[in-house]
Amino acid sequence: MFIELIDALRCPVPHEESWLVVAAQRIDARHIVEGTLGCHVCGAEYPIRLGVADFRCHADSVPPRSAPGDLEHAMRLAALLDLSDARGFALLLGDWGKHAALLSSIVQVPLLLVDPPEQVTAAPGVSIVRCDADLPLAAGAARATAIDRDDDQRAASAIRATRVQGRVVAPVTVRVPAAVRELTRDQSLWVGEREAPAAPLVSLHVRRG
Ligand SMILES: [Zn+2]
Repeated sequence: MFIELIDALRCPVPHEESWLVVAAQRIDARHIVEGTLGCHVCGAEYPIRLGVADFRCHADSVPPRSAPGDLEHAMRLAALLDLSDARGFALLLGDWGKHAALLSSIVQVPLLLVDPPEQVTAAPGVSIVRCDADLPLAAGAARATAIDRDDDQRAASAIRATRVQGRVVAPVTVRVPAAVRELTRDQSLWVGEREAPAAPLVSLHVRRG
């Protein structure tokens, strides 16, 4: 878990949005390999083991192995997510994580993987969290997001974690979430942009006389 991404993490327990305090036991190249994240609101603690931060209530199974990533898909993903400079971090959900090692070799942007396939390991530039449906991330924290499958709750949580005007990429089997404006699509993927949340209603007062 890259130290600079700790600021973007939030306790997933439903209470006011709360940042986490880290106690690191082992750090390698500014990545926490072993440690604990603690919530100062509810007191929950989340372990970091082998670089993976685990937010699950019941930490047991991990997603199965997946076909290895390839350079062509990694380069395409870098272009679709518009990762041409080093700002911020990109969020890759599920199976997209298989491209992380190659993607990390061609872009400067730190990657945060959520529930990647079993064979994917944390490394400098590649951070991993495992979590239940809601992502443990601050609103608008990620510069761009790749969604892997049609899961409304997780997609909504991922969009919430994406900054306004950030790119969103997903397979065509995933419905375009409400807060996303579709930019383009082909047979396999669509590309969209996170829209600004609707402004609160403003009441108008008309002065008469
Ligand atoms: Zn908490």
